[in-house]
Amino acid sequence: MMAAEVVAAAGHRVTVFDRMPSVGRKLLMAGRGGLNLTHSEPYERFVGRYGEAAGWMAPLLAGFPPSAVLGWCEGLGQPHFTGSSGRVFPRAMKASPLLRAWLGRLAGLGVALVTRADWIGRDEDGTLHFADGRTHRADAVILALGGASWPRLGGDGSWVAALPEVAMIPLHPANCGFAVAWSAPFRRHAGTPLKRIALEHGGRRVRGEAMVTQAGLEGGAVYALSAPLRDAIARDGRTTLSIDLRPDLTAAELARRLGSARGSASLSTHLKRHASLAPVAIGLVQEALHQGNCAALPALIKAVPVVLTAPLGLERAISTAGGIALPGLDERLMIAHHPGLFAAGEMLEGEAPTGGYLLTGCLASGHAAGRGAVAWLAGQ
Ligand SMILES: Cc1cc2nc3c(=O)[nH]c(=O)nc-3n(C[C@H](O)[C@H](O)[C@H](O)COP(=O)(O)OP(=O)(O)OC[C@H]3O[C@@H](n4cnc5c(N)ncnc54)[C@H](O)[C@@H]3O)c2cc1C
Repeated sequence: MMAAEVVAAAGHRVTVFDRMPSVGRKLLMAGRGGLNLTHSEPYERFVGRYGEAAGWMAPLLAGFPPSAVLGWCEGLGQPHFTGSSGRVFPRAMKASPLLRAWLGRLAGLGVALVTRADWIGRDEDGTLHFADGRTHRADAVILALGGASWPRLGGDGSWVAALPEVAMIPLHPANCGFAVAWSAPFRRHAGTPLKRIALEHGGRRVRGEAMVTQAGLEGGAVYALSAPLRDAIARDGRTTLSIDLRPDLTAAELARRLGSARGSASLSTHLKRHASLAPVAIGLVQEALHQGNCAALPALIKAVPVVLTAPLGLERAISTAGGIALPGLDERLMIAHHPGLFAAGEMLEGEAPTGGYLLTGCLASGHAAGRGAVAWLAGQ
């Protein structure tokens, strides 16, 4: 839609096709968490968050940086605010007013919207084919079909099959949860958040929250470590995540607090009374003790080990890693050997953490693909 806005604003006739009955469903879903549009940290640090993708994202972000995202949001009549974490949200804390205003702007630019149009391929002459037999001839095409996470919102990665000769990195979950073989008694904590914790893996420490589920662990702090966790599991078959259940207290302070005689109190009462642990956190400590971990209690509370056995599937992942391989795209985001065919958004290889980097990256690459298509059309 950002690409459509740029191309239409340059005076071209634009049609947006989407297989769903309405557009922007994942944007609306992102809005349920407040719609974290971008981040307010210094620009250099912002670009660095794209990790291995920072090199090729940098020119795209330079063309549509976080400040442009904010200007665009304001231009759609949506004031924004910066949270204490530096994340930026529309003041409405949802996507629907922004999406409504955006669709209004696109309509004003003459952009036609065709829904329930399932794209299945493109001929060399630019003819698009749809699953119901419809065709559409276009001088330039910008694909922005998303990744494969939350497929019920529209994007399921089926476009990979429609681009057989384009170099791809296999799609896999990013910002995802992980499977844990919880004991049956611990499973009763499924659906309970672990609040004010710190997670540590491979020397990286992240403070935040995680959610215990029947299948394992998910939530913001887990997503922040998900790329190294996923890679460690791919390499070693499993990996151990260390959870600090009281990051605000030192082990020495915990030892002092837990040093008082336990008497006839149960372990869980003792931990609740002297370490102020929530039932789910006590359950984690007990889980480790049952598995034969004989570390002293303060050490266990500061670093309870949880073995992760696999990333949870794409169905619940926040985003997708992998996609169209970068060497196959030029700086305009045109696909090699496919003149007039561009790609943008989560279809492109690379991954970004949560924090507004995903939407900013998609808007920036959509803007770049739009500019690229306008420049290419001008040269025809
Ligand atoms: C629960 C959740 C919360 C999130 N929260 C945030 C957040 O707060 N901040 C943030 O930065 N990011 C967030 N994200 C990620 C962000 O929403 C995505 O990165 C972004 O929407 C991807 O944009 P896209 O245009 O590439 O793909 P999408 O938004 O997935 O759009 C792709 C579109 O293509 C259509 N399509 C797919 N295949 C076809 C086909 N063959 N034919 C026709 N149409 C097709 C789909 O129907 C869809 O409408 C969140 C994601 C989830 C799942």
